[in-house]
Amino acid sequence: MGNDVDVDVRMRGFSRRMEVAAARSLILSRCSPLEPCPVPLAEAWDRVLAVDVVAPRDVPPFRRAAMDGYALRAEETFGASSYSPIEFHLVGESLPGAAFEGSVGTGEAVRIMTGAPVPDGANAVVMAEYARETDDRVAVMEPVPPGKNVSEPGEDIRKGTVVLKAGRRLRPQDVGVLSSLGISEVLVHRRPRVRLVITGNELLPAGSEPMGHKIVDANSVILDALVRRDGGVPDMPGIVPDNRDAIEQAIVQNDADVILVSGGTSVGREDHAPLIVASRGELLVHGVAMRPSSPTGFGVVEGKLVFLLPGNPVSCLAAYDIFAGPAIRRMGGRSTRLPYATCKLPLARKITSALGRLDYVRVKVEEGKVEPIATSGASILSSAVFADGFVLVPPDSEGFPPGEDVLVYLYDPTPLPAADNE
Ligand code: AMP
Ligand code: MG
Repeated sequence: MGNDVDVDVRMRGFSRRMEVAAARSLILSRCSPLEPCPVPLAEAWDRVLAVDVVAPRDVPPFRRAAMDGYALRAEETFGASSYSPIEFHLVGESLPGAAFEGSVGTGEAVRIMTGAPVPDGANAVVMAEYARETDDRVAVMEPVPPGKNVSEPGEDIRKGTVVLKAGRRLRPQDVGVLSSLGISEVLVHRRPRVRLVITGNELLPAGSEPMGHKIVDANSVILDALVRRDGGVPDMPGIVPDNRDAIEQAIVQNDADVILVSGGTSVGREDHAPLIVASRGELLVHGVAMRPSSPTGFGVVEGKLVFLLPGNPVSCLAAYDIFAGPAIRRMGGRSTRLPYATCKLPLARKITSALGRLDYVRVKVEEGKVEPIATSGASILSSAVFADGFVLVPPDSEGFPPGEDVLVYLYDPTPLPAADNE
């Protein structure tokens, strides 16, 4: 049990809220990248390498033509011009995957296509544009130096070089290079398994119709998407009622690495999750100096990280991004930094914030200016839908005046300009 955390705060309110930075570093101190596991190349994209990849061979593995043309001995083209072409005897052809088996002798040339092996004896390729072929002869109209248009073995990648470093999140071209190297499987960090424990007696399953006083669960689909974005594997068995035993079972009975509890995390009568975490493991954070999302908690139960995320969907989203996302990304070997593109633009109107608190402010970007969204209650999920992004006001700031340049985290880094929409 963390000594800073007041265990049963039900109906009393938080006596103190932990600073966001302190909570984050405490959380990150409790997680590290998961063990390596092999994946086939076809599944390697966007996974994170757990070890360096060293080239097991040269790429290309043989001398090959970099142009379509004629392979020959460079020295024999010296003095050639369009006025006095030099003629060669065309002795064959080398195609990609179908090499010319002989060797090129004095006065001989072989027709060759890009990517085809350069035959023995030849040391250059004259581009087709500088040659004229008739029957079994080819007239060369430009001299070429030795090595011209020939890719040497290892020109692309030399055997023994570290091509990709541990920690690399594999890009499409990275997977291509691995394939070129003849690698069929790579060691990547295992993805964290993330169990979603969505609590609330008032909730209907996502995808159903709202009925009576029941509302449809939004957090499971928000969290599912966020977890997948961050490289985790989400799993949600069903909505859990606001019942201590049911929530306790959902937290304890699973093989997840991370548990995200949504709802029931605050100081109300029905808020069981903090007590469960405290009694079954360690409750390390409960209540953070952040708006929205102050009823956020974090603990460890049987080696699993448990995040207590407020039920209000905006709070849930913000708390996930500030606290759970970095942990899940780190476990998968990814960066803990917020996975949003940013831009710096002037504020259209002031933003106010209390000292000591981190504010997550939804904003619109209009005509190059940042407009805070007026309706910004934590229960107003549409505020995060109409927003283009958010601004974080740090605890040591009381806000920003109009005109001040602020950093905006963009929900969509590539919003379509109007012209592209037509
Ligand atoms: P709680 O954190 O459980 O006190 O919930 C705070 C508010 O968020 C209440 O109005 C809940 O009805 C609402 N809420 C809780 N869970 C969800 C959910 N999964 N989806 C949408 N709203 C929720
Ligand atoms: Mg609830």
